[in-house]
Amino acid sequence: MSKRDYYEVLGVSRDADKKEIKKAYRSLANKYHPDKNPDDAESLDKFKEIGEAYEVLSDEDKRAAYDRFGHEGVNGQGGGYGGGGFGGGAGGFSDIFGDVFGDIFGGGGGGGQSRTRRGSDLRYTLELDLEQAVWGCDEKIRIPTAVDCEKCEGSGAKPGTKPTTCPTCNGAGQVRMSQGFFSVQQTCPHCHGAGQIVSDPCDSCHGQGRKQEYKTLNVKIPAGVDTGDRIRLTGEGEAGTFGGPAGDLFVQVSVKPHAIFERDGSNLYCEVPISFATAALGGEIDVPTLDGRVRLKVTPECQTGKLFRLRNKGVKPVRGGPVGDLICKVMVETPVNLTDRQKELLEELAESMGESSEQHSPKQKSWFDGVKRFFEDIKK
Ligand SMILES: [Zn+2]
Ligand SMILES: [Zn+2]
Repeated sequence: MSKRDYYEVLGVSRDADKKEIKKAYRSLANKYHPDKNPDDAESLDKFKEIGEAYEVLSDEDKRAAYDRFGHEGVNGQGGGYGGGGFGGGAGGFSDIFGDVFGDIFGGGGGGGQSRTRRGSDLRYTLELDLEQAVWGCDEKIRIPTAVDCEKCEGSGAKPGTKPTTCPTCNGAGQVRMSQGFFSVQQTCPHCHGAGQIVSDPCDSCHGQGRKQEYKTLNVKIPAGVDTGDRIRLTGEGEAGTFGGPAGDLFVQVSVKPHAIFERDGSNLYCEVPISFATAALGGEIDVPTLDGRVRLKVTPECQTGKLFRLRNKGVKPVRGGPVGDLICKVMVETPVNLTDRQKELLEELAESMGESSEQHSPKQKSWFDGVKRFFEDIKK
């Protein structure tokens, strides 16, 4: 198979600069473009030849190799395929198309994309109060998304017209190109893989078939969700292109910190301050839960840090399982702003407890014992 000289193909001199080469390519490619020469095999061959020549001559390295070694220089010399000539494959080819025909197709979105394509998945982070996450809620969210163009119903073709089957690939979206021993399957350069041609593009979406819009969705948040949970709304993502299915929308839950409660799985935690007297004598206090106050019985001689568990006052997990507990940690509060009389009473109390710390302060006793042992161990 003999090949024409690339310079000859583009009709430029051997010392033509990049600009000249591009210009020559543009005008030739336009002339032999399959759009203008439907069902003309000879034009198509010419068109491919022009593309191949441009791919080599527009690339400095490939052009240098071609100048020195001719076609052998850019097409698998030494038996390898890696000379780069055609190795760039579909990528190189479609890049050229994106460059030259982007404006014609009105897209500029780069060539080589199959038109029938699933829309992207979208993610939306939804901030919830703890109560909303625990009880569930209905939330309205507003998301930017590409939707099918109403005017052309997503076809990209002007209303009243229809996309036609691509004559180059007969609707397959792929073409075979032979190159020496090799036969390469490529995305159809004419229709960019869609198999269809929009000759009369919709003026509302410029032939894209979809538009950028905001949509408001009602999201039902099930009870028990937590930070990191995702709710999938099938088909609510970005619209697919040209009849492709829409992507999904993932609503990512993020629960805001709460003033009182901290959540760990299905359990809730909170700190409850109690007075010195209640701690010593025991009593009842009000503690908050997510559904109102409950009375909590504090046992006498209660120390700071003691945990009280209120069964089933936690969270029902969204994935099922038992309802968690509310765990209250009591903090004994040292009285402040004491009157003289109150101070007197405390002094009286301290006096009455005397030196017998062992009896009234079990922790202090074991702590002092530990310190004593510590010093004795050091002496040895
Ligand atoms: Zn449209
Ligand atoms: Zn095609």
